[in-house]
Amino acid sequence: KRIGVPVEGRVGETLVAATPRTVKQLLELGYQVVVEAGAGEGAQFSDEAYQAAGATIGTRPQAWAADLVLRVNEPTAEEIGLLSDGAVLVTRMDPRPDLIEALQARRTTAFCLEAIPRISRAQAMDVLSTMSNISGYRGVIEGAEAYGGMFGGQVTAAGKTAPATVFVIGAGVAGLAAIGTAGSLGAQVRAYDVRPEAREQVHSMGAIFVTGEETPAAAAAGAGDGYAKELSDDEAARTARIYAAECAKADVVLTTALVRGKAPRTITKEMVAGMRPGSVIVDLAAVGGGNCELTVPDQTIVTDNGVTIVGSTDQPSRMPAHTSQLYGTNIVNLLKLMTPAKDGVLVLDHDDVIQRAVTVTHEGTVFWPPPPVQVS
Ligand code: NAD
Repeated sequence: KRIGVPVEGRVGETLVAATPRTVKQLLELGYQVVVEAGAGEGAQFSDEAYQAAGATIGTRPQAWAADLVLRVNEPTAEEIGLLSDGAVLVTRMDPRPDLIEALQARRTTAFCLEAIPRISRAQAMDVLSTMSNISGYRGVIEGAEAYGGMFGGQVTAAGKTAPATVFVIGAGVAGLAAIGTAGSLGAQVRAYDVRPEAREQVHSMGAIFVTGEETPAAAAAGAGDGYAKELSDDEAARTARIYAAECAKADVVLTTALVRGKAPRTITKEMVAGMRPGSVIVDLAAVGGGNCELTVPDQTIVTDNGVTIVGSTDQPSRMPAHTSQLYGTNIVNLLKLMTPAKDGVLVLDHDDVIQRAVTVTHEGTVFWPPPPVQVS
């Protein structure tokens, strides 16, 4: 069967769903690959590099007419119209009823990459972890740029400067990447997460887990599916005290808190008012509305008291070569599971929890929503 890799239509998108390296892996699974001319341009992969890897370069209709189409972003209605009848679509998407209906009408087999379950076996396919990891890294770079000082303490002939203090809220995949990156630049890193098990991971990254005046409640661990749950009023008041105190002494705050993709409020405008002039907030939850009350998604603002709030939502697209490589590898790993004979023939096993979890439609039959998956 033939795999198509179209240009991502979205304005400003730099990512691509396959790279020359992942093309080679797709060929090893028995597929042929057609890449739309220019698809890798934003990520610095030339058509020649794809050809050298064994792909053919084609037109937009050729890429969309393939048996399997790989994408980064959800297709538009017009793009769905370009799919062949009964094609397989592998992409990030929000499976809304209107999208499901459009896919069903084309008898598409559609896989939603955000629905990869949080089980160990699925880690190598987990695009959310890929994106979060890169966002955490890139968020620190953006915070460091907006901050008017150096992260590492300096001892020079002209005197000394103190290291920056970085406070990270939420120590999931993005938060841990931010902790590692800020620490490697020499900052003193402090962090907090509502999941008590995050404390050990924060410590293992060499950062301080802040606890406030009491010991952390063992309450927010969630329902066993790998997601945090919302805080009770008492817990929220306690974490608010921690956040206010930590933000007031931080040079850069990175906030990464999410509960099932939604951004809880972690930093209020009063907390921002208590921050030092020149300090920075990078709101990595801006895409879900923001953790900070004053965040404007996709904008950088400076408050009256001189705090810069970075609300960019496209961190992964600002590191396009590596993001595309890791994202493309996530897709290869999913297709490995679905191509057991490595003969370029996709065989779907609905008894497999991963395959079941990602299937939105199969040959026109709706499989969404999937049954819940417990973390193993
Ligand atoms: P996430 O993106 O859903 O949330 C980010 C972090 O914010 C989480 O750690 C969460 O506990 C925290 N948070 C939520 N509300 C908060 C609040 N009010 N204040 C402070 N922190 C708050 O989570 P994630 O980064 O995707 O992952 C969370 C955990 O799941 C990690 O331990 C990760 O290793 C694990 N995980 C496992 C797999 C897998 O096994 N395949 C995949 C992804 C994640």
